[in-house]
Amino acid sequence: MKFNTIISMLKTLIKPLQNVLISKKYCPGCTRQLDDQKTRQIRNNDTERITCQCGRIFIYDKSLDQYRRALQNEV
Ligand SMILES: [Zn+2]
Repeated sequence: MKFNTIISMLKTLIKPLQNVLISKKYCPGCTRQLDDQKTRQIRNNDTERITCQCGRIFIYDKSLDQYRRALQNEV
């Protein structure tokens, strides 16, 4: 089996797990609780930008009470 095939298989396996972690407000990279992160920046009325201690950046949607990974243009 090719190395790239193994990597893409792993990514397929890990993605749902990461989505579960982020929906439970944990950083999928280091499993720290995102609610506890001190580096919060208010972007507008509805969203905050959170930088996790591991360096990953997330957007918190207040109206949905949900986190998601920041997109390239939001970093
Ligand atoms: Zn993290």
